[in-house]
Amino acid sequence: MKITIRDITKRYGAFTALQNVSLEVPQGKLVALLGPSGSGKTTLLRVIAGLEAPDSGSVLYEQDDVTQRAAKERNVGFVFQHYALFGHMTIFENIAFGLRVRKWKNDAVRERVTELLRLIQLEGLEKRLPSQLSGGQRQRVALARALAASPQMLLLDEPFGALDAKVRADLRRWIRQLHDEIHMTSVFVTHDQEEAFEVADHVVVMNKGRIEQEGAPDEVFAHPANAFVTDFLGHVNVFHGRIQNGRAHIGTVEMPMSFDVPAPEDHAEEGAEVTAYIRPHEVDIDRVSHGSDSMFAIVTRVNRSGSTVKIALVAQEGQLPLDVELPHERDAELGLVVNDRVWVYPRQVRVFRREEAALDKETAA
Ligand code: ADP
Ligand code: MG
Repeated sequence: MKITIRDITKRYGAFTALQNVSLEVPQGKLVALLGPSGSGKTTLLRVIAGLEAPDSGSVLYEQDDVTQRAAKERNVGFVFQHYALFGHMTIFENIAFGLRVRKWKNDAVRERVTELLRLIQLEGLEKRLPSQLSGGQRQRVALARALAASPQMLLLDEPFGALDAKVRADLRRWIRQLHDEIHMTSVFVTHDQEEAFEVADHVVVMNKGRIEQEGAPDEVFAHPANAFVTDFLGHVNVFHGRIQNGRAHIGTVEMPMSFDVPAPEDHAEEGAEVTAYIRPHEVDIDRVSHGSDSMFAIVTRVNRSGSTVKIALVAQEGQLPLDVELPHERDAELGLVVNDRVWVYPRQVRVFRREEAALDKETAA
């Protein structure tokens, strides 16, 4: 089932939690709502489910306007961060709960629960109590319970938020596989960009009750639309500078302008204050200078323990700390050690006006 959200505004008193949000969730896709805490993700999910009434705008399931319809009439599966399993009921009865409420016959319940136990890979554990399962297993039970009555869509609000990193990583792979198996229209809320990018078909980046950007994960990652998104995706070097002769100047260094800037003429205004973003893996290092697009820098730390080599440097007489990630092969060619004097080449610099960057930065914090 396709979900269409049209121009939704939701206020709590004087506070606007959602401002003119429009979004389409295509049939059978897994869409991630990504954004910092307080950006309106849960509110949007609750509006989709009918747990919250918007002040204006509408929600459509296919062509059907459900804006005024109560949650229990919408047939939506919901999974929350804190598994609200019933502690005194077995796993079987937890999963069966919604079916019992709907007065399913015993045989039908048994058949459906067995099928779901297989789907969440917990066959054989149905007689246990929730307290006898791990956190990750309990979240899978919560998911099975949400799926039991064959909802038209699945809404997940930070479902792995309370689990530790390793379990989270396993579960996100698992939920992607599960989605590929059942193809249920799903909206997944997270504040974790890695999780969103790994799991979703489509990523929606939210900030202050608005959508900053949406698109396929690769597209959003390669072409962040603005300073907020660039910053929020994380793992980026941030520099402040000015436009001179149509190029960004950071301290005494001239940087190439981004190819991603939506309207270069806006940014090329002489003397305009800008913020430049450089991703560590979009930088090369060399021992010789190739001209003005490079910065002189000194190596302060080399960490070869990961899948890439992480090199910390300072440029501009110690004024400009910079992180670079090189493939191990390139690092082996260079043989860098601490205190080496090198040249740094950003292959991609994204430049945005300072006003915009500073404003958005405030809310990201
Ligand atoms: P997120 O899920 O992205 O962290 P929420 O949608 O929960 O954000 O909340 C967005 C904003 O709306 C927050 O600033 C929050 O404090 C506010 N908010 C959410 N629910 C209520 C409510 N019932 N009453 C008042 N303010 C609320
Ligand atoms: Mg939330």
